[in-house]
Amino acid sequence: MKKDIHPEYYKTILRCACGNEFEAGSTVKEINVEICSKCHPFFTGKQKLADSAGRVERFRRKYAKFDNKSTGNKPKK
Ligand SMILES: [Zn+2]
Repeated sequence: MKKDIHPEYYKTILRCACGNEFEAGSTVKEINVEICSKCHPFFTGKQKLADSAGRVERFRRKYAKFDNKSTGNKPKK
């Protein structure tokens, strides 16, 4: 490796919003994530998210109106 062009490489602690922590290598010392393999529904098999910021709820409210529109918007014959 060339000298002085590479960033420092740390053993980083990744902290998830669900409370899970794990180690990984990174160029920053600390990483906070909102979802990890312990709480992501793909890995847990559950549909419920650890939705700390209410993002899922906001998304559903935002796109609820599109559902209503699509049912009342059928092409005329
Ligand atoms: Zn998590």
